[in-house]
Amino acid sequence: MKRVLTVAALVALILLVGVGALLAVTFMGRKPVVDGQEVDGIRVVEDGFSAFAVMPIGDGRVALVDAGEDQAGAAITRELVRRQLGPDAVVAILLTHGHPDHTGALRQFPKAQIMALEAEVPLIEGRAGARGPLPRLFPVSPTGVTVTRALRDGEVVTLGDVPVRVYAVPGHTAGSAAYVANGVLFVGDSADVASDGSLQGSPWIFSDSQSDNRASLVGLERRLTADGVNVSAIVPAHSGIAAGVAPLTAFARRNE
Ligand SMILES: [Zn+2]
Repeated sequence: MKRVLTVAALVALILLVGVGALLAVTFMGRKPVVDGQEVDGIRVVEDGFSAFAVMPIGDGRVALVDAGEDQAGAAITRELVRRQLGPDAVVAILLTHGHPDHTGALRQFPKAQIMALEAEVPLIEGRAGARGPLPRLFPVSPTGVTVTRALRDGEVVTLGDVPVRVYAVPGHTAGSAAYVANGVLFVGDSADVASDGSLQGSPWIFSDSQSDNRASLVGLERRLTADGVNVSAIVPAHSGIAAGVAPLTAFARRNE
């Protein structure tokens, strides 16, 4: 019996070390997030493992891109206090996708419109699970969150005085979205910026389909060009900001 337990403990340890090594490899070589970095009036705020963005939309109101990891929303509250704003100033939250490190504080803002692509709604509301090798291990249960506005690929949603373009980039999750506002391209977890400034696709271990993700990024580059969208910066959720659209263009040329 003792021997069985020892073997079980060893197997568990090996698994733990294996997963740890995989995660270390996944996050190595990324450009780190700079907490509080601003680009074209939009501020990126670190919240533990991930980052969200705060976008002023006029009249003392803001929109968020993602809602951080912390369910209590402490980093969001700190940022609002810094701006001398209360929680009601958050009128909209655009979700790049439904993984829990991006939806943490949603329930703290019951008056905000929660926006996401239609295909992502079941994951955000906890009616379906994510399909990535690691996320699929987590149980599915209702999150208590309701998406109040399901977005369509290609639409332009106007928040206050800021038009936001919506692009479907399925792959990291089925309903992953990229948004462009004020020339800033938000890619969530669909891409990362490496320490050498190049763009990488989403990591295998957290993603539904790496090949769909790559194809979506190639398609996104084409669509931004076709739409005449000027991208001044690319903002991922787990790595630092890249200047200009060049890293996405180079990614598309490497992967098309
Ligand atoms: Zn994710």
